[in-house]
Amino acid sequence: KYSQPDRRPAVVTGASSGIGAATALALAAAGHPVALGARRTDKCEDVATAIRDAGGEASVHALDVTDGESVTAFAKAVTADLGDVEVVISNAGAVGPGTIHEVETERFARELDLNISGAHRLVRAFVPGMVERRRGDVVFVSSDVAVRARPFMSSYAAGKWGLEGMAHAMQMELEGTGVRASIVRPGPTWSEMGTDWDVDEAAFVLNQWVRFGHARHPHFLKPTAIADAITTVVSAPRGVHLNLIEVSPEAPL
Ligand code: NDP
Repeated sequence: KYSQPDRRPAVVTGASSGIGAATALALAAAGHPVALGARRTDKCEDVATAIRDAGGEASVHALDVTDGESVTAFAKAVTADLGDVEVVISNAGAVGPGTIHEVETERFARELDLNISGAHRLVRAFVPGMVERRRGDVVFVSSDVAVRARPFMSSYAAGKWGLEGMAHAMQMELEGTGVRASIVRPGPTWSEMGTDWDVDEAAFVLNQWVRFGHARHPHFLKPTAIADAITTVVSAPRGVHLNLIEVSPEAPL
């Protein structure tokens, strides 16, 4: 698929499942040595084994993007393993259901911290080196919920909207530095997302979506569709910046 292997070392956060795991596999297939980070390192190891079995290079390190020390230690370990990181995929994220006035402020803040500040910690750890070396790609995995909020996930909508705002400001700040910051905005995708929800809560939310027309097209993408979009973004030639890609499921024929 790729005419030239791309050997730039890459980092994927949230690589233990879903979109992150698929992205690590896709980047490795394109030639990148890949560092996988998440809290569940055993699941990252399974993905890394699949990468190595296919002839790719992978390393795994524990990462909690809500913990500054964990992000700093991760960056240090990855650089020791793979050298200067040139591609960063900020993918770790989660969504919790709830009615806005019933969600505790502490939980709301925790979810914003994961979905926005988690990405910012990663930027702080990797982007200064990229700017110094005048090359690099950062991709933020957003959500269609950033621009089309769905009810009962207000903190997630706020988080992804905020993440995109941060990314747009960063794109302008990085102009002329050789570092590209991009957004990939997935629509509904099969993954582990939401599988930790309480069953009654999940049923309530889904019923409300259908009732109010927010789930008229309940078609889902495979994580590989998002991984392909991310790989396309980072493989754009110099002089081209794919700054935002939204990936939506096509309705069945
Ligand atoms: P999954 O739940 O399958 O994956 C989420 C990943 O994030 C896991 O690998 C998890 O790893 C990791 N993660 C969660 N919290 C942390 C943390 N504190 N530190 C490090 N890693 C963390 O869901 P998806 O693959 O669907 O989600 C990936 C991204 O895609 C998210 O940003 C999500 O918002 C976005 N997205 C998903 C959509 C969907 O419909 N699925 C639609 C639009 C966007 P671990 O638990 O091991 O730490």
